[in-house]
Amino acid sequence: MAKKKCPACGSLNTVKIIYGLPTPETIEAVYRGECVIGGCCVSDIDPKRHCKSCGQEFGGGSLYPLFEMTSFEFYVGGYFGPSHHLYIDGKRKNKLIRYAKTQGGMYVDLKHPKNPINFHPEVLLKEIPLPSEKWLSFIKDLSTLEIPCWNDEYNNVAILDGTQWELIIRLPNRITFRKNGSNSYPPYWNKFTKILKKYVGEDIG
Ligand SMILES: [Zn+2]
Repeated sequence: MAKKKCPACGSLNTVKIIYGLPTPETIEAVYRGECVIGGCCVSDIDPKRHCKSCGQEFGGGSLYPLFEMTSFEFYVGGYFGPSHHLYIDGKRKNKLIRYAKTQGGMYVDLKHPKNPINFHPEVLLKEIPLPSEKWLSFIKDLSTLEIPCWNDEYNNVAILDGTQWELIIRLPNRITFRKNGSNSYPPYWNKFTKILKKYVGEDIG
């Protein structure tokens, strides 16, 4: 069977999680390190795989909570080269992606589109409408990345300055996924930036 990559650390050393009362065959497979036992509560959102390198569990129904996303915020950039900023208000009826490209690490305030800081001549500002079918396909694309299972931080301490990034996804009931990094990225980073490019139409990251 094809090994699945861990969304937190990128290791291919991952095994299936077996739920329910284990059979003698299951127990033998556990001893051989081919699977782990995951308790007996079976639901659609239980993780399906366990990473033997970092311990992360993943492959659950990560699709469902993102449908209720109340906001999506993303930043990548640094003092050199362009920075990219994205914001989606998930509570808005007519959803849109607010996108800004800035230079020299300049800040924008996409939550408040009328903020004069957004109208600096060096800020490229775009609003991309997300009609419901596009919104749903955006959520489905994001769900393939298993963002909730990413590490909270990816840091390469050997490099000063360079590129920083932050992704904040908010869900109802104050659930927040906050992921960030400094010159280091999660395993699905390229896939993630491709998805953003697909919707924004700009090279990001
Ligand atoms: Zn891992």
